Amino acid sequence: MTTGTDQTHVAPVLVGGEELPTPTAPVVNPARTDEVVGEHALGGEKEVDAAARAAVDAFPAWAALPAAERAAAMLRAADALDGIREDQARLITREVGKVMGESRADAAGAAALLRYFASLADEVDREEAAPVTFGRGWIRHLPMGPVAVISPWNTPVLLTFMALGPALIAGNTIVVKPPEIAPLALSRALAVLAAELPPGVIGSVPGLGDAAGAALTAHPLIRRILFTGSIATGQQVMRSAAATVKSVGMELGGNDAALILESARIDEALAREFVAGVFAASGQVCYNVKRVYVHRSLHDEFVEAFTDLAAQLTVGDGLDPHTAMGPLTTREGWERTQRLRADSDARGAKVTTVGVKRDPANWDGGHFQLPTVVTGIDPHAELVTNEQFGPIIPVLAFDDEDEALRQANDTEYGLAGSVWSADPDHALRVARRLEAGTAFVNVHRVGASPMSVPFGGVKQSGIGRTHGIDSVRACMEPQAVVCADDHGALPGLGHFAQLRLRRQP
Ligand code: NAD
Repeated sequence: MTTGTDQTHVAPVLVGGEELPTPTAPVVNPARTDEVVGEHALGGEKEVDAAARAAVDAFPAWAALPAAERAAAMLRAADALDGIREDQARLITREVGKVMGESRADAAGAAALLRYFASLADEVDREEAAPVTFGRGWIRHLPMGPVAVISPWNTPVLLTFMALGPALIAGNTIVVKPPEIAPLALSRALAVLAAELPPGVIGSVPGLGDAAGAALTAHPLIRRILFTGSIATGQQVMRSAAATVKSVGMELGGNDAALILESARIDEALAREFVAGVFAASGQVCYNVKRVYVHRSLHDEFVEAFTDLAAQLTVGDGLDPHTAMGPLTTREGWERTQRLRADSDARGAKVTTVGVKRDPANWDGGHFQLPTVVTGIDPHAELVTNEQFGPIIPVLAFDDEDEALRQANDTEYGLAGSVWSADPDHALRVARRLEAGTAFVNVHRVGASPMSVPFGGVKQSGIGRTHGIDSVRACMEPQAVVCADDHGALPGLGHFAQLRLRRQP
């Protein structure tokens, strides 16, 4: 293996502001798999325990600060993160494979999310009068304690800050388990954040999922887990969390359907939205479009327009400014895509592969896959029923709108869905019947769901929502404060009212 021309990066265990020594494992560039981008710590139980204890120690003082003071520290960190944004984007491209535009959005997410959640500080400390029948009462919200954040590799920085932002402004302390596939840019962002906060408020334990991740979910001092990743891992995390009754927030996989109604207009703008919605980050986004249902009268026209635009995508190293789509991030993802192609083919579907190889000579040196469109596919095929997480998309024809909705909803996934029509009001009526955390009309892609609206999934796509004050409240425990100004004033003591002190005054 060679080391790339850029400097080698390290993702260390970070506890109480100090790096702990551990064995390490390499992080490889998916665009050239013989290039080591850096090393990540192989943290385990011992490091998780140290980070959890540091988070416990730091908790009382951090929780006692007014939220405005926590916000001020978060804003300082956001400014510091702005200064390293372009380096971070380059590093994300080298570890995840995404093109630079996608990595820039990922890197920029850290500061943007810290600023957004800092802006909610006034709300965090707000106490409400409780409707008590006597005396006085309030409802306040208290932070929970140490919170674990476990993140996936596809958007490592932004998604981690989306989870830790609300937990932090709420007054919790945090231990992050970065994804072992792409831990480098995130670890750097966490170090920058930690430097602006009291020691122990942010800890980081890179390592393997079944070592560092499992230890964190089992640790008795962790009170809440914010997990983003696959449904299968989410289920394991919930089982582990049950042993110590931890609160959980789950952002899991999606198999988003897009319904193109008979009333839609197939034009270049629609085709472009679909190419972006399907092939962003090589199909490796939780709410990419993953199934397309199109009215039979528009099927051929849509497939032609969509395939024609997808054919213009240049696939190659994400650092190359001429590249529109990078490689798959993992070998496993690449193999899954090949398997889905072969299965579709074996079922008699039409598998059309398009696009341009940017560097044919080095094609086999990375996990590259050209955009692939599958038509005439059995609706029970794995490509339709499961999340593909790669640049291969099934397009299915329908005759009846209700039947299309039934198929769209006939799944355990429920992250997002979209309806497309030249008559948006009609599309809205259909979209309201989608069983999904987000219902889009005439759009369906990253960036279409702003931080101010709840984001998350129904059914097995998740539990709870990120974004907004609700995600902050979800990291807090409501406390009822009830005050009887005069004891003995409340009637209803029942038989206790008969009791009299033997001792007379
Ligand atoms: P994954 O479930 O394999 O891994 C996610 C994280 O969990 C990693 O950090 C991993 O190390 C850790 N992990 C693995 N085993 C663990 C265990 N036993 N205990 C604790 N932690 C463990 O997911 P991935 O492959 O990194 O990400 C892709 C998946 O994430 C896709 O399904 C995608 O849809 C989903 N995703 C969802 C959202 C969302 O917001 N809903 C966002 C991005 C990705």
